[in-house]
Amino acid sequence: MRVFNFSAGPAMLPQEVLEQAASEMLDYHGTGESVMEMSHRSPEFKAIIEQTEQDFRDLLDVPDNYRVLFMQGGGTQQFACVPLNLMKNHVADYILTGNWSKKAAAEAEKYGKVNIIASSADRNFTYIPDCSDLPVDDDADYVYICENNTIYGTKYHTLPDTKGKPLVADVSSCFMSEKHDVRKYGVLWGGVQKNVGPAGLAIVTIRSDLIREDLDPKVPTIMNYHTTAEKNSLYNTPPCYTIYMCGLVFQWLKRMGGLDEMHRRNEAKAKLLYDYLDQSRIFHPTAEKDSRSLMNVTFVTDSKEMDAKFVKEAADEGMINLKGHRSVGGVRASIYNAMPEEGVRKLVEFMDRFEKANR
Ligand SMILES: *Cc1c(COP(=O)(O)O)cnc(C)c1O
Repeated sequence: MRVFNFSAGPAMLPQEVLEQAASEMLDYHGTGESVMEMSHRSPEFKAIIEQTEQDFRDLLDVPDNYRVLFMQGGGTQQFACVPLNLMKNHVADYILTGNWSKKAAAEAEKYGKVNIIASSADRNFTYIPDCSDLPVDDDADYVYICENNTIYGTKYHTLPDTKGKPLVADVSSCFMSEKHDVRKYGVLWGGVQKNVGPAGLAIVTIRSDLIREDLDPKVPTIMNYHTTAEKNSLYNTPPCYTIYMCGLVFQWLKRMGGLDEMHRRNEAKAKLLYDYLDQSRIFHPTAEKDSRSLMNVTFVTDSKEMDAKFVKEAADEGMINLKGHRSVGGVRASIYNAMPEEGVRKLVEFMDRFEKANR
């Protein structure tokens, strides 16, 4: 029996996609081999990676002057890739809205001067700070944000005014959940295991003029955006199977009606949960209303014991991984693209029963 998995990542994948992958596991399109066994230099894999990029471009409406790079090392590797590839003046501005932007800023500090130009640390990252008039450094090579904060359940609903500097955004946990206007970003990158595919890959969408050839020769080749772009993400063996799975997810998204339709569904799912939380007497949402994430819904009860009881009883009912991140506790329901509305309805019904039994 399949459960409803509310994990923040790796997370649920669409059942249809898993079934298709299973049906193609032993013999991909008459080749007699699995994509897992296939040479990354074969014509079949070339077709897979090219189609995956094309579908990604179609879905996000990526302009021609942007490159799409498939890179290993997940999100954390990009924390280093961004400063290593983009720091020219060795100055960058970071906005702190939670653990992932803190980690990114700490990594960038190894390579240059990092200015924290806004932060929501004062209220435990429960909101997105006002970014309409930031003290952007004249020398800053870029302004960095984490667009959806997986751990705290917040999201930027308006992008910062970067005063002409390139905006770099980690979109790992809202990747392909709605349409991003790519033109507003210098770099938009996401680890795929939250909303797009299995772990092992980050997809980097970067404006071509930001890809530099004159990098410090000490930058590891594997982390060099220019090399990756020049070799069409095939400098070395890429995570072939993960790329194939992302491709199947993109085809699923297209069949579904694209990112606007996905966004509509995600809004409807999040509304079910937030509407319930807003009237509940024992569950309290933690993110401030105007900063709420559609993907990660965070809440607490009045005690740690009650939180734990809830998480355990939900798991007994086939709703797993509702425990909040180890750094903040409480409860977190991650309701990415592949979580059906039925899963959210089931959760809300269970919360209602739990509330009546424990009030
Ligand atoms: C999970 C996550 C990361 C880290 O990804 P890894 O692939 O585990 O390194 C970075 N940023 C955000 C927003 C995340 O949700």
